[in-house]
Amino acid sequence: MDFDLSAEEREIRDWVRTFVRREVMPLEQQALERERRHERGITPDELKALQDKARTAGFFGIQTPESHGGMGQGAVVAALIEIELGRSFVPFRFAGEADNILFSANEEQQERYLVPTIEGTRRSCFAITEPGAGSDARAIRTSARREGDEWVINGEKTFITGGNEADFVMVFAVTDKEKGADGGVTCFLVDRDRGWRSEPIDTMGEWGPAALVFEDVRVPHSAILGEEGRGFELAMRWIGKGRYMLPARALGSCERLVEMGMEHARNRVTFGQAIAERQAIQWMVADSAVEIEALRWLVLTAAWQVDRGLDSRQSQSIAKLYGGIKANEIVDRVLQIHGGMGYTRELPVERWYRELRLLRIYEGTDEIQRRTIARNLLRGHASVRGHLG
Ligand SMILES: Cc1cc2nc3c(=O)[nH]c(=O)nc-3n(C[C@H](O)[C@H](O)[C@H](O)COP(=O)(O)OP(=O)(O)OC[C@H]3O[C@@H](n4cnc5c(N)ncnc54)[C@H](O)[C@@H]3O)c2cc1C
Repeated sequence: MDFDLSAEEREIRDWVRTFVRREVMPLEQQALERERRHERGITPDELKALQDKARTAGFFGIQTPESHGGMGQGAVVAALIEIELGRSFVPFRFAGEADNILFSANEEQQERYLVPTIEGTRRSCFAITEPGAGSDARAIRTSARREGDEWVINGEKTFITGGNEADFVMVFAVTDKEKGADGGVTCFLVDRDRGWRSEPIDTMGEWGPAALVFEDVRVPHSAILGEEGRGFELAMRWIGKGRYMLPARALGSCERLVEMGMEHARNRVTFGQAIAERQAIQWMVADSAVEIEALRWLVLTAAWQVDRGLDSRQSQSIAKLYGGIKANEIVDRVLQIHGGMGYTRELPVERWYRELRLLRIYEGTDEIQRRTIARNLLRGHASVRGHLG
């Protein structure tokens, strides 16, 4: 058993760590000030300039295959990178990524959607959730009706990340009511100029997702991604692509938060002593460190299983559930250590507090992860002994 990183993994991790420290963290103060004015913390031009800089050093499309111009890295490296990126709340990510399911597109669709998404000239969004169907995604009602060589889409999607900015949507619609999610849901690639509308949704986070409205939106038969009726599998593939990535980012945030908490605790004197000397504060630091360490191995084990081609679904759900719960407890403790200052917008702690809350909701709520974990165990698909058996 080898818990170490290879020389290459270490080199990549260290490069990203330095990049985040030198290029991303200096933008934090400005990002906080802008967000206080309800502006975006980082403008699209600033993000692009940073991404271009990283690209010249070879950091482009971390998991995008080399055949498509990317680095073709595996899940462990992607997780290591995500942890480093999570250390700053500035929403930076490397360019050159595309939704995994776009790689199943036919040649013509790849030219139209996949290649420009990788190049950053077109933006996608993924739309399955509806006002009446979130956790229970099989209950979607958006419909697509065939009329000759065209399909006519009607329905409403909600909470769609990037839906306000997207140039096209991967939308999931019922094409056969009888079959429903078992062979009756189809994924369509729909350009915005086909007539769907988006409306921003105000959230606790710094910028919101969108509600999408489809009213008699007509698309040609060639807009189908994959096979007619096989959309639900594509949706599950998109959602399952990398559950370990969400807690990986949260892990980086928690590391930084605890460092901030310790720094504050060393400097803040009450009743003649630094609060770092108080057991109440030390226990918060200790509990957080233990949980961070546990989360690190849950995330990396799940990623390692992905790289090995093992069935990683149980490990990914465990990492996502534990990461969501613990990240929220840790940010709460760090806010507490900062006292009143933790509650202000002078510091990023309250910002992280709001951001990390989402982790317990999207891409499968805590309750749905628990349901998956328990079902896998009870049906014998997974063991409480983990992958070692
Ligand atoms: C900021 C944000 C971005 C998002 N981005 C996207 C996106 O890009 N694309 C997309 O398609 N969707 C997206 N979503 C939707 C997200 O995946 C759903 O919100 C999530 O799956 C939960 O669905 P729901 O909101 O309908 O809650 P519900 O399913 O209504 O659940 C409500 C509560 O009941 C619990 N619950 C539900 N079923 C059970 C059960 N069987 N047993 C026990 N408890 C249960 C849930 O855990 C939750 O606590 C996003 C959501 C948010 C908030």
